[in-house]
Amino acid sequence: MPVHKAYKFRIYPNKEQEILIAKTMGCARFVFNHFLAKWREAYKEKGKGLTYHSCSNQLPSLKREYDWLKEVDSIAIQSSVRNLADSFARFFKKQNKAPQFKSKNNPVQSYTTKFTNGNIALFDQHIKLPKLGLIKFAKSREVGGRVLSATVRRNPSGKYFVSILAEVEIEPMEKTEKAIGIDLGITDFAILSDGRKLDNNKFTSKMEKKLKREQRKLARRARRAIENGVDLLEAKNYQKQKVKVARLHEKVMSQRDDFLNKLSTDLIKSHDVICMEDLNIKGMLRNKKLAKSIADVSWSAFVAKLEYKAKWYHKTLVKISRWYPSSQLCSNCGHRDGRKSLEIREWKCPACHEHHDRDINASKNILAEGLRTLTCD
Ligand SMILES: [Zn+2]
Repeated sequence: MPVHKAYKFRIYPNKEQEILIAKTMGCARFVFNHFLAKWREAYKEKGKGLTYHSCSNQLPSLKREYDWLKEVDSIAIQSSVRNLADSFARFFKKQNKAPQFKSKNNPVQSYTTKFTNGNIALFDQHIKLPKLGLIKFAKSREVGGRVLSATVRRNPSGKYFVSILAEVEIEPMEKTEKAIGIDLGITDFAILSDGRKLDNNKFTSKMEKKLKREQRKLARRARRAIENGVDLLEAKNYQKQKVKVARLHEKVMSQRDDFLNKLSTDLIKSHDVICMEDLNIKGMLRNKKLAKSIADVSWSAFVAKLEYKAKWYHKTLVKISRWYPSSQLCSNCGHRDGRKSLEIREWKCPACHEHHDRDINASKNILAEGLRTLTCD
């Protein structure tokens, strides 16, 4: 089955390449904003927006008007128009908000270019990108399949990355004849019906503490600069700390992503059927008390990874109703013991006297209910 897969690599552009990357990001942003303004204008006047083609046809004259647009990768500019048209299409399908003007002050800047005639190529220590030529990069893994596009990104910490999107042929994974239930938790990230509790790895929480400390330091430096009447853009200590915080933040995020990737792949590899609750993550985030931990452990990212990996490798992800009383039932005899407040971590079934760990019992029930709905379909 052919699927789209993204490969992210760190790149190390030289000074000249950095300048050209900044210019390309600027041009892509300029073109996006230019046509966004035109689009809004047309909508105001005629009650109808523009199309990709009508914008794209105006590009040559735009380039004559603004000479500097010719200095950068022309496909990146074209992609920017495509990106605008796509965001409008998604907006009309009610999938996202209306596109907004892009700001040069946005801490993450990027541009995308498409593959044509070998303009993107990967070698052992270098990657070839249009106009930029060969850039040093850290090839941490092989890109399989056909390259479709490349997105160059600059993070707030000043690091550069490239995301290669490729069409990859994926072989289904071997069948294991095994099923598992997962209960997502706060203290433990995932509780499995086989009795395992998976921590939201300790390294991350240590890093997060450090991040909080550095963020407080950043706030202090901002206050001090303001008290001394120094503009924040000129405040050297503040700017230095800002980069430090951004770097730490990126590290925490990437650690967490690694954890979620590994866990979801392991689960998919060793089971044919994975059962979990259909979580109302949006509803949960409205509950302020739970919100921070939920955002922290990234449940929604995890579910999304399980979803696409199940599809890729021909496995089954079953979501059971969030109203199913997984924490009220005894997984041993089926006795319904009623609601249990969150502090109750263990209980004994009054009917069969089985002693339960709250979360493991819930994940066993999730598994049983998942398998039941699967055979009913
Ligand atoms: Zn029981």
